[in-house]
Amino acid sequence: MPSSSDALALLCERVIMCNRCQRLREYCVRVGEVKKAAYSEESYWARPVPGFGDPHARLLVIGLAPAAHGANRTGRVFTGDGPSGSSAFLMRAMHAHGFASQPTSEGKNDGLTLTDAYITMAVRCAPPENKPTPAEIACCHEHLVSEFAALPSVEVIVCLGKVAYDVAWRLIGSRGVRVSPRPVFEHGAIHQTPGSWTVIASYHPSRQNTNTGRLTPAMLSDVFRKAQTICQTASPPGGACKA
Ligand code: SF4
Repeated sequence: MPSSSDALALLCERVIMCNRCQRLREYCVRVGEVKKAAYSEESYWARPVPGFGDPHARLLVIGLAPAAHGANRTGRVFTGDGPSGSSAFLMRAMHAHGFASQPTSEGKNDGLTLTDAYITMAVRCAPPENKPTPAEIACCHEHLVSEFAALPSVEVIVCLGKVAYDVAWRLIGSRGVRVSPRPVFEHGAIHQTPGSWTVIASYHPSRQNTNTGRLTPAMLSDVFRKAQTICQTASPPGGACKA
């Protein structure tokens, strides 16, 4: 049986080669050709973006999708969308609670490492206007299921936004755990599932939310404080699979 690292490496190769969603693939390539003025000298990744982090993570963070000029440019999730973008906002909160080695996420070679945490997304190709269709979310779900299987230590799932929240419940359902009725999405809410995973809901750290104060640094920090507390009271990193 392959180790978590091997399984994740194989999955990474599969994700990068994935071409199932024609609309998204065309959009990512087009963005990489047109570029943003500030990045006109750079080569965009413009391919599906795999997850990133610690193969023994007890914390799984699920976002929405790569940003057109962020992860679609850099090739790493929540990376490179500027000092006021979602990646910096997220990394400051994760760093404050020991999950990230630094409070910034600018490029693949910036030295960032994650400890006890793994970040992934509902959809791995940047969608126009940050809006994947239900069909695209469904199409990409198989990659998330494979990733979850390769991360046997996960105990806590932080969902960044309603799409990630819905995807997380579907993911848990894929392990045979049925929760009915499904709890409504509410920022900061914590749900313990019968399968022993803990789901924490958060608003997504998009500029739309952070610039308007709907999601403040303190609010997101509190989400990761809760995740840290639950991880610390659960089994040590690399503990047994809950399935
Ligand atoms: S969104 Fe997911 S399923 Fe669709 S092409 Fe990208 S990686 Fe493949």
